[in-house]
Amino acid sequence: MPDLDVAILGGGCAGLSLAERLAEEPGRVGSVAVFEARDGYRPDRTWSFWRQGPHRFESLVRTSWDRMRVRGDGREALVDCAAFPYQALQAQDFYDHCVQRLGSSEVTSLELDAAVEGEPRCSGDGWTLTVGGEEVRAREIVDTRPPDVLPECLLWQSFSGCVVRTDRARFEPGVATLMDLAPGDPGAVAFTYVLPWSEREALVEWTVFAPQRRSAEQLGPGLAQAVARASGGASVHVEREESGALPMGPIGPRTTAPWVRAGLFAGAARPATGYAFQRIQRWADRCAERLRAGQPAVGARPDGAVTRAMDRVFLEVLRADAARAPELFLDLFTRTEPARLVRFLSDGATLGDALAVVRALPPRPFLRRLPAALPEVLHGGTA
Ligand SMILES: Cc1cc2nc3c(=O)[nH]c(=O)nc-3n(C[C@H](O)[C@H](O)[C@H](O)COP(=O)(O)OP(=O)(O)OC[C@H]3O[C@@H](n4cnc5c(N)ncnc54)[C@H](O)[C@@H]3O)c2cc1C
Repeated sequence: MPDLDVAILGGGCAGLSLAERLAEEPGRVGSVAVFEARDGYRPDRTWSFWRQGPHRFESLVRTSWDRMRVRGDGREALVDCAAFPYQALQAQDFYDHCVQRLGSSEVTSLELDAAVEGEPRCSGDGWTLTVGGEEVRAREIVDTRPPDVLPECLLWQSFSGCVVRTDRARFEPGVATLMDLAPGDPGAVAFTYVLPWSEREALVEWTVFAPQRRSAEQLGPGLAQAVARASGGASVHVEREESGALPMGPIGPRTTAPWVRAGLFAGAARPATGYAFQRIQRWADRCAERLRAGQPAVGARPDGAVTRAMDRVFLEVLRADAARAPELFLDLFTRTEPARLVRFLSDGATLGDALAVVRALPPRPFLRRLPAALPEVLHGGTA
């Protein structure tokens, strides 16, 4: 008999999201352990998304914005999104919540400072893992660890940001600046992202979409300029920093392993945007439901053909002609009805929404890149 019903490898967003659901309602799952390499959690990121209805982390949301701004190309789009506000939650609040939930359940345990070594090995009625030199056996494995070798992708979304406090009112609460696009980085799409917590406190991020990943050090000068611009000459105190690099298309579910993989590098991130938090929550709901019913775990559901095709063409256009990005994003945000735009960005698009997005954009650059998207549509997954 395996020691565990479910072993979750990696206790970040995906691993904790799944375990949190099993802690609450285990069903036929008798024992779950999360093995996490870190020895503790720290406030290392902020998760944002559009609220499209009630969700399980409502109480953790620190700030909501009813308007979103995109600026560039000498134009500005100020979009009313009050019906589906842009929301942010702090990773530390999420980690604390999950640690508390797992700790108060008799079914789940969280092992910190517990790096899983190598790959799981198939053993009769389950899997064997090595954790800290010890062998652990589990009936089901859900592996959310990032891969050792980073995948090929069309673009990397690299970003470096900080939460700053200014000595004067400098930010506009209520308006999330999703993109303040800046020219001058050839072959890359570069912009500032500003989430104001108050008039004097904001998360300011410098983001670059480019074929190569950029480190936080490489993004440093851009971030310094972004902070100076966003804080309009006020004196600035940096409260904390966060950075990352997200793969942008075509990362589908990884099917090379005979066990279930999940998370950022296994299809969790929307290819054209890098948004992953809500997709991870939808996956965790589905995976937990199956495990509770005694069924095998599952990975991310592949995107439909329309989404795959549109994301692929969009990324191909950005990669081939990054200088057009301001014009394209401004067209997208000014010409698409907000509800349709948000549904499209949040994976809830109808065919009508997808058509509205297509109509908002100039056809020629996209038609030219259409052939590059065909293999993605034909071989990338289910429609
Ligand atoms: C700074 C930042 C901001 C982001 N902001 C947003 C946002 O606003 N909205 C959005 O939708 N998405 C956002 N994302 C993207 C995505 O939501 C996050 O990357 C999310 O954390 C992905 O979850 P995950 O579980 O796949 O990866 P992670 O949360 O990174 O978890 C993977 C875990 O595996 C652990 N691990 C690695 N190796 C081992 C090992 N050998 N053994 C055991 N454990 C191991 C790691 O320590 C880590 O805890 C952001 C990403 C970053 C980095």
